[in-house]
Amino acid sequence: MSYQDYFRKVTPYVPGEQPKEDDIVKLNTNENPYPPSPKVASALKNVGGAQSRKYPDPTAALLRDALAERYGVRSSQVFVGVGSDDVLGMCFLTFFNSERPILFPEVTYSFYPVWAELFRIPYRTVALREGFRIVPEDYLTENGGVVIANPNAPTGIALSVSEIETIVAGNPDSVVIVDEAYVDFGAVSCQCLLNKYPNLAVVQTFSKSRSMAGMRIGYCIAGEPLIAALQNVKYSYNSYTMNEASILAGKAALEDEAYFVECCKRIAETREWARQEFEKLSFVCTDSKANFLFVSHRSVPAKRIFEALRERKIFVRYFAQPHIDNYLRVTIGTRAEMERLFSALRGILAEA
Ligand code: PMP
Repeated sequence: MSYQDYFRKVTPYVPGEQPKEDDIVKLNTNENPYPPSPKVASALKNVGGAQSRKYPDPTAALLRDALAERYGVRSSQVFVGVGSDDVLGMCFLTFFNSERPILFPEVTYSFYPVWAELFRIPYRTVALREGFRIVPEDYLTENGGVVIANPNAPTGIALSVSEIETIVAGNPDSVVIVDEAYVDFGAVSCQCLLNKYPNLAVVQTFSKSRSMAGMRIGYCIAGEPLIAALQNVKYSYNSYTMNEASILAGKAALEDEAYFVECCKRIAETREWARQEFEKLSFVCTDSKANFLFVSHRSVPAKRIFEALRERKIFVRYFAQPHIDNYLRVTIGTRAEMERLFSALRGILAEA
């Protein structure tokens, strides 16, 4: 045996490409096309001075308190982390220690099986129904936990609060994580269920609706026992995950509610216009409530369109995976970026 036999072997999650060139229309990683609130840049002017000599506040109290105020919960119900990936990873590590498999949809955020493998959590994927539908009753079998992205990725399809409630109420002995990375673009958060269900953990991010993917801020809102358990695990691994800049920038973003609302509204409007444009070009689209559309052309294979767009410096996301390998996930950019996309698509489809 060699020492290499004792390495932890995992197949990592593969994020979308981050091309270096400037003239690219980048619609492949669900970033927000608009900058963060100007209040974020102002807050960051104060970073990097004498204060940076010191460790940041391990409790990130400024940011937790601001989130608690924004969402009408206690600070002790808020956990923050380095993007929602960090928060979700901590949730898997903390809540899923049962012998029973955790459940998540077969088509969903592809990081879930990676964390399950990394932390050696048994898991079972649940098939989607016709039209990529998630049926709550399918998650009422014995399990060690449930994870639902709502809206789901990469389909963008959202469950209603009462459908989420069916899953949470039907699993009183498991933690149900609802990953609401895209909720602000047109779905309804299930945070209103938190008072009723101590087994619910709602995870959100600043990466999409607050245009701050680069600052890496995510959070979980849940009952106090769940948050206390998350804190214990985090402080047993790395206490200082939230740096000074992210704490200040996150707090500043929360102070500009009007900007946030306007930005989400614009993206939802562009999405609905883009859906019609796709349909005019013979694409079928799921009913996405997220900042992306999930589209499939009636005759031209998705992979071919993906490659032809790439040659024209337009990046969208293609997943060579069962069930979705004839679909493209297209992030909603600015209206100008989307117009460039549709003009390229018209050219590609005319040649196909
Ligand atoms: N959940 C879902 C469903 C996502 O698509 C993403 C983005 N890749 C994340 C969580 C993580 O986003 P972040 O770590 O930037 O908050």
